[in-house]
Amino acid sequence: MESSEDEEFYDGLGASFGPKRREDSPQHDNVFQERDQCQKKAEEFVAKCLKPAVEDFINRYLGLSIVDEMLKKKEFSTRVAFQYYILLDLLSKESFDDYLSFTSSYESFVKKWILQKIQEHFSSSSKTSEFENQHLETSVSYINEGIKKAKTLNRENVKTLVEDICKELGDKLVISQDALGAFMILNNADQNKFADYLTISVIAMKISLREKFKTSTFKDKRKCLHMQPQDELFQRVIGCGKKCPFCAVPCEAGGEAHAQHWASLHRPLGLNNYRCNMKLSTDICSSLVENDGCFRCPQTNIESHPYKRYREIFPDWDIFPDGSLEASDYWKYIMTKYNDDFAKQYNAEPADIPSPWRKITHQQAEESLKKSFYMK
Ligand SMILES: [Zn+2]
Ligand SMILES: [Zn+2]
Repeated sequence: MESSEDEEFYDGLGASFGPKRREDSPQHDNVFQERDQCQKKAEEFVAKCLKPAVEDFINRYLGLSIVDEMLKKKEFSTRVAFQYYILLDLLSKESFDDYLSFTSSYESFVKKWILQKIQEHFSSSSKTSEFENQHLETSVSYINEGIKKAKTLNRENVKTLVEDICKELGDKLVISQDALGAFMILNNADQNKFADYLTISVIAMKISLREKFKTSTFKDKRKCLHMQPQDELFQRVIGCGKKCPFCAVPCEAGGEAHAQHWASLHRPLGLNNYRCNMKLSTDICSSLVENDGCFRCPQTNIESHPYKRYREIFPDWDIFPDGSLEASDYWKYIMTKYNDDFAKQYNAEPADIPSPWRKITHQQAEESLKKSFYMK
């Protein structure tokens, strides 16, 4: 195993530097002093400059590794698959609060849902440590190359050696200039010895970081990431994120730039607090924009405006007028099941549910979801 080799190497050298035998000779004192100083400086450089840079590197790339890993899962394979699995999950949990969050706080609900999937996936596997170790290996190999190269250059003292190492690391590892500045108040320690101790200190750093990866929780790791994987995944699977101004169904046009937002099938409007007088509405947008009805909303200054001319108010939405379209059995079932809850929540009267909707079963709702998923 690679790690045990490192440990042996480290232990071996550690023993030779190890317990300091002080002898009563000034010559020995000097040797030990120089050795102590070299070792101290090397350890200081690792602790104050290299270790933070390595941790920063890992925190920068770990988020991306998590995103790539999650994208291999079926839920995240396409935007359509994502909608299917999230709606299927909602149906299986049968929680009104979840449906309310899904319809009224879409982005935050979806991000929480994604985060839960990430936590489920990573809490039960050692995958995170595996990724952390990969990024650790990469950053340590940059450092070792840097030390090796800097050693071949002509240099005057430890200061120039360190400067050369930092130059070699370039933008691969970001070394704090403040920490470096403080460290640079240097002595005239021997550069070769310093470089040797540096190599050893880097191995010690690697071992201690590996231990840290093993013991820290996924939550702790996630807090340090530069990019939150749920935000990145949200961008990938949600597309443009715009919602129908009437029923709040998400746009299906995708993530690429598009002038018009659209959805293949809209939802009963009552789910998004649209009402006819005080009653929640069971209509869907495609029928309404074909009929002679009117709507009022903050965008119309609460003035009545014909549905047929909705584009004057919402020019970037394209709602295909088709009176023959009905909501899916899935949403009919949800609207029926939670009619009273939505009404109470919105301070409205419950919708008049068409009687065929009441006959739709949980099973049929699920089948309608599956059918639309496999048709897309
Ligand atoms: Zn709509
Ligand atoms: Zn869109």
